[in-house]
Amino acid sequence: MRAIVVHGGAWSIPDDAVDDHIKGCREAAIRGYERLKDGSAIDAVEEAVRYMEDDPTFDAGYGSFLNSEGEVELDALIVDGKSLRFGAVAGVKRIKNPISLARTVMEKTEHHMFVGEGAEKLAVKIGMKLCDNSELVHPRELERWRKGGIKDIFSTVGAVAMDSDGNLAAAVSTGGTPMKLPGRVGDTPLIGCGAYADNLLGAAASTGYGEAIMRVVLAKKAVDLMEKKSAPFAVKEALLIMKEKTGGLGGLIAVDSRGNIGFYHTTSRMAFAYIRNGDIRASVSIF
Ligand code: ASP
Repeated sequence: MRAIVVHGGAWSIPDDAVDDHIKGCREAAIRGYERLKDGSAIDAVEEAVRYMEDDPTFDAGYGSFLNSEGEVELDALIVDGKSLRFGAVAGVKRIKNPISLARTVMEKTEHHMFVGEGAEKLAVKIGMKLCDNSELVHPRELERWRKGGIKDIFSTVGAVAMDSDGNLAAAVSTGGTPMKLPGRVGDTPLIGCGAYADNLLGAAASTGYGEAIMRVVLAKKAVDLMEKKSAPFAVKEALLIMKEKTGGLGGLIAVDSRGNIGFYHTTSRMAFAYIRNGDIRASVSIF
């Protein structure tokens, strides 16, 4: 069994942006799935998320929303379901692919999470090139920022995968919410909130209103529910619990330890794609 699921955010994706979201998710899933042929679940989720960080359609890497001071500040998390190890970075401003820095944190340090300047110093130490913050700013977002931003867009990217050895992994990357205050960190880089993976149960990746996701530790909640339920039921229940307890909306993708795929959203739309044993589906799900 090999499977990958990716998401490109859950919000009221406008009709004229639907095609780009489907295209981006589809391509990311294809690239991630390719890595499953010769690599691991970790390789697959990193590859899929890197692709979406480079695609300006999404709120991750280049094209991310700007904070209230007109800067891009990025967060990312990668989780290995075999060892329960993870790597996370938060508030980085000069890294094109934060998901790869998060993977370095997981694999090359004794720590799990780095923030801001310390994370960027680590990047330099391992030979990663720093970019200028302006290289992460897309003209569309500068325009949006000049107009005062808009509310309730959740266009974070994420991926979960199962490789042929049954290993699970999850990864998420974001520029956070539009016009966030400098230094604000959402759910995305926090273990159990933005993503979680445990080979014995499943893997899940979140998107949506970070302040609500953190309150219910959404991805871990979904994975824990997979002890008794398959992925499609677990993600639905976790999101309904979040809505009931906090009023917050969002989306989840997941794969459980038996290879079942789940996706659900309480927002009006969610962009996603999956490939399971070669069969592909890419769509914007609409409620
Ligand atoms: N969860 C992200 C955050 O609050 C936003 C998103 O999903 O797009 O930073």
